[in-house]
Amino acid sequence: MKIPMVDLAMQYQALKHELDNAVLEVMQDTRFILGPNVNLFEQEVADYLGVSHAISCASGTDALHLSLLALDIQPGDEIITTPFTFAATAEAIRYVNATPVFVDIDERTFNIDPQAVSEAITTKTRAIIPVHLFGQPADMQTLLSICEAKGINLIEDCAQSFGAHIDGRMTGSWGQMGCHSFFPSKNLGAFGDGGMITTHSESLAERLRMLRNHGSRVRYQHEIIGYNSRLDEIQAAILRIKLKHIGSFNNNRRRVANTYNELLKDLPLTTPDETKGTHHVYHQYTILSSQRERILNALQDADIASAIYYPVPLHRQPAFVSASRMPSLPTSEYVCEHCLSLPIYPELEELQIQEITSMIRKVLLD
Ligand SMILES: *Cc1c(COP(=O)(O)O)cnc(C)c1O
Repeated sequence: MKIPMVDLAMQYQALKHELDNAVLEVMQDTRFILGPNVNLFEQEVADYLGVSHAISCASGTDALHLSLLALDIQPGDEIITTPFTFAATAEAIRYVNATPVFVDIDERTFNIDPQAVSEAITTKTRAIIPVHLFGQPADMQTLLSICEAKGINLIEDCAQSFGAHIDGRMTGSWGQMGCHSFFPSKNLGAFGDGGMITTHSESLAERLRMLRNHGSRVRYQHEIIGYNSRLDEIQAAILRIKLKHIGSFNNNRRRVANTYNELLKDLPLTTPDETKGTHHVYHQYTILSSQRERILNALQDADIASAIYYPVPLHRQPAFVSASRMPSLPTSEYVCEHCLSLPIYPELEELQIQEITSMIRKVLLD
């Protein structure tokens, strides 16, 4: 039985009628840019995440870039982040000619280690960007208190964590800004690119609204240099429908993760950690194994997908080597050499999970 990493067709089929109608309505209405669905979607996301403002933009990468511009980050400023993430987190730092300072991660959560963050702070440090990797919230209580004590900005990369929370407080509502992605395969996925910045700050929200739309508050009055980075009205209409189901999508991801945990628990591999008090939303289900090549190959032979997120930490990537302070980061390097992500999506069924885990069992115990 063929099993992909994600199956976007099933979600479309389930909501087809509503989604088709929403797209048709936008086409008939013809307000394609910054129309009513964009406004409503921003309000609905702000309500869902418990923030005062949500400003949509063209992608998660742009959300990160715009958030650094909104803070007026300057060339040479240092931004502390994790090397175990998608490249976009650090690319955004380079777009404003700031220096990414990579620090090591916690082996259990895959997220940035607050102790390592503390040790990396210098007089040039302007912000910290934790990533809630794979849907597991980073240790926000500790990071927030570090940032408050030092007067440093906290920007959350929530591209993989829409709907995740710590004791009920949503990711994207902890820092000065939270950056979200609606890339199709993310937990809340559009039918194309899309992004969002959430914030409690009225002044940051105002700056972000200008930055995403040519530096303009009033048409043809350009106060600052801005960009063309807007969420399409069609995408907003689609996302408004999917947002109503995000709780159920995420709970189904959690169901899949729990089934995996149960079926893998006696095997010599490490299943993902869910820190006490956190609501992990399992954008990925990622195990650690010294046998990952054998597992990957056996699954591939059975037409079952699996993927290595991420094979090379960013401090070892050519794009970032010269621009970053680059110590050795042993935990990140270890995790990159042992991680393997298994198929996960809300519609993945018990029987499919059993097939996947019995293949892994065979590889490890035969
Ligand atoms: C997907 C992703 C991004 C970028 O989002 P896009 O919408 O694809 O630009 C940034 N950070 C992380 C951790 C991501 O997974």
